[in-house]
Amino acid sequence: TYVIAQPCVDVKDKSCIEECPVDCIYEGRRMLYIHPDECVDCGACEPVCPVEAVFYEDDLPPDWTDYGPANADVFATL
Ligand code: SF4
Repeated sequence: TYVIAQPCVDVKDKSCIEECPVDCIYEGRRMLYIHPDECVDCGACEPVCPVEAVFYEDDLPPDWTDYGPANADVFATL
């Protein structure tokens, strides 16, 4: 799955939402989140993000690996 990380916080540009073919990017209070079970790994959202907040899960920079579980947790409680 793809994951949205720290650069999205308080930015929420939403270009990725326009691009996602399965509408699996959701708006949170301070950032956007990708639903891990709905993401089809197409990669379309990654290049359109103006702040480079989107990463393939395994390619997350070391400082931001927490965002993998953080994206998933948003949906775990729904
Ligand atoms: Fe949507 Fe594709 Fe990005 Fe997954 S990788 S969130 S399916 S645009």
